[in-house]
Amino acid sequence: MKGSPIAAALLDWHRRAGRHDLPWQHPRTPYRVWVSEIMLQQTQVATVIPYYRRFLERFPDIRTLADAPVDEVLHLWSGLGYYARARHLHRAAALIRDGYGGELPASFEALAALPGIGRSTAGAILAQTHGVRVPILDGNARRVLARYFAVAGARGERSAEKRLWELAERCTPGQRVADYTQAIMDLGATVCVRRRPLCAQCPLAAGCQARRSGRQHQLPGARRSGVRRLQRVFMLIALQDCARVRLERRPEAGIWGGLWCLPEFTSADAAAAFARQTLGVDGAPPQALPELQHAFTHFDLTITPLLVHCTRAADLVEEQRALWYNLREPARVGLPAPIGALLTRLAEQTLC
Ligand code: SF4
Repeated sequence: MKGSPIAAALLDWHRRAGRHDLPWQHPRTPYRVWVSEIMLQQTQVATVIPYYRRFLERFPDIRTLADAPVDEVLHLWSGLGYYARARHLHRAAALIRDGYGGELPASFEALAALPGIGRSTAGAILAQTHGVRVPILDGNARRVLARYFAVAGARGERSAEKRLWELAERCTPGQRVADYTQAIMDLGATVCVRRRPLCAQCPLAAGCQARRSGRQHQLPGARRSGVRRLQRVFMLIALQDCARVRLERRPEAGIWGGLWCLPEFTSADAAAAFARQTLGVDGAPPQALPELQHAFTHFDLTITPLLVHCTRAADLVEEQRALWYNLREPARVGLPAPIGALLTRLAEQTLC
């Protein structure tokens, strides 16, 4: 482990205490590692595992994934959040099917150029599946290195990024790269955690600068964030024949991008006007149901669902961006978690 100040201790720790039974480690193929790396971005292992198993069961290889409708991919991603990851995965699978004969490319440049695969993810895939010496800097590795070497500066700050990539490069050993890569990610996920790192159990404690100076909680620097925003929206449950609800596909940019959702409005009046003008509802005004709360990373969303009954004469056409979702026989499409839960609850009630 010549040259790396942390590799020997990390590898020794990994052998004794690291995670060796994760589903993507057996077998550790490029496709399986790729899917795991994308799912693990911003998401913890315990959350990912059941999603990963279901995903691999339905899409066991790149061609199956590439040939599937994006709605089915989003359906299996529903609840995991950050839906651009799923859309990128699907788009990249089609590019790999068409341009690389269905095999994930083994060149760093080609991998990093695919949608959703940046520098660190490309490195993690190559290191873990081909043993290529490439540094990684995912959130876990970043936290370990920032603390061990006391690199200040918020995430995204250019000088801190540059310094951390230099350190990642310096610390990556020439041998056992796959294990080292897994080890530094595991250490960040289980020992050098964001709040209350377990320094007493850490194999790097002796040389860690943050620990020495008691600055574990200040490093790495947090992204500057403003006051947490509160947002309120109204969503229309347009119910037809007591069983079908109108859903619309959300634009790709923005929250829940590409998922199917209830039509959203900024006011109850706007929702009522839509019900009258577009759906031909001329009966009672929409009825407000109990509010839903949903927390995003940077803001809190309050949703007021408004229930309205449509007559048979209402628009039944399934457009590209709208569909009538059968509550009793749900289509396999991607739904935001709180909307999916709301629709499940509605399906259990007598609505008419
Ligand atoms: S000693 Fe503590 S802060 Fe330093 S790397 Fe280990 S867990 Fe992280």
